[in-house]
Amino acid sequence: MPDNVLMIPSEFLRCAGPNCGVQKGSSDRWWVMWSSIGEYDVPEMHLSPWDERLALREGTIHVCGEGCAQKLQSQFMGNILQKRSRANGS
Ligand SMILES: [Zn+2]
Repeated sequence: MPDNVLMIPSEFLRCAGPNCGVQKGSSDRWWVMWSSIGEYDVPEMHLSPWDERLALREGTIHVCGEGCAQKLQSQFMGNILQKRSRANGS
């Protein structure tokens, strides 16, 4: 990831939801999501209310609302199942 991600002003942020891409306005109530490998060595998905510091952090996904958060969650779950079935060779 390029370092300049941190320089993007929040007014240019867009929703990461599939088929969404809505641009964030200053008064919108958005959410942030990110995934990481948790303490038990499994992928975790995190969801938090909008926070400028979180929003500008590398790897953070910006979400305009519940609908897009749900789509991204199901994408996350689908990706994991797909990886598992590939790892099992089935
Ligand atoms: Zn959206």
